[in-house]
Amino acid sequence: ESTMRLHVRVARLGTRFVLLLAEDRTEAHRLDEVRRDFVANISHELKTPIASVSLLAEALDQAADEPEQVRRFAGRLSVEAARLAHITSEVIELSRLQARDALRPDRLVRVDQVIAAAVDQNRIVAGAKQVEVAVRASTKKAEVYGDKALLIVAVHNLIANAIAYSNPGGRVGVGAKVDGDVVEIAVTDQGIGIEADDLERVFERFYRVDQARSRNTGGSGLGLSIVKHTVQNHGGDVRVWSQPGRGSTFMIRLPLAEAAIEPGAGEPEPM
Ligand code: ADP
Repeated sequence: ESTMRLHVRVARLGTRFVLLLAEDRTEAHRLDEVRRDFVANISHELKTPIASVSLLAEALDQAADEPEQVRRFAGRLSVEAARLAHITSEVIELSRLQARDALRPDRLVRVDQVIAAAVDQNRIVAGAKQVEVAVRASTKKAEVYGDKALLIVAVHNLIANAIAYSNPGGRVGVGAKVDGDVVEIAVTDQGIGIEADDLERVFERFYRVDQARSRNTGGSGLGLSIVKHTVQNHGGDVRVWSQPGRGSTFMIRLPLAEAAIEPGAGEPEPM
């Protein structure tokens, strides 16, 4: 992470010994590169909608006495503004996750409630596209330690993608079960799927498979990296299986709270 590694070595110089301290330059350099890429990507992602907004504002000004045009430009203006707002909030969310200041791992969170909330948030979008979202969860009252709002965002992002990359009238399955000391939440679609080469990269920030096609879905390429960071911050992982043209399954695995409880730790504090 952002901690600097320090190398300590004792070397012999003539008849004396000296202590050598050296910062791990390669690690610092790598982090620098990651940061630079991120900033470059954000700038790129923001430039397009910002340019559109100023062009549309100009067009709006020139079309002042044509109400039909005004309405059209105003509509597109608000679409671009919404896109800017969406990207901005995702960037902020991701920065927070990477700074690890968002996680309060002391809270017990019911997995079924996370799933229900995430499904509910996608109901309208699913309805508009006539995609059926079917939930099959057998987690009963299973709990994990974590931040409920963040976990809802993670599951929400997977369901939103499954709907976005489904064909109209398609079906999305949300399943959850307990397996040993972990809980598995799987989101399956029968949509366009992902090629093997892209599959390794979909969790990267700003990575989008087919720019032109993905653009239509209005995404930012940040959704899955938010999922990855959230899940990792909760001590879990996320996997994906996909077949181009057949569909995809994304699975989040989180350690169950019971497994994390140390003897005595679950007892209430005496008042
Ligand atoms: P976006 O905002 O573009 O959806 P994500 O980080 O959520 O960004 O996803 C990255 C890319 O992975 C998407 O642009 C899309 O190409 C691909 N992808 C994600 N989920 C799916 C899915 N369920 N089916 C097919 N492709 C997907």
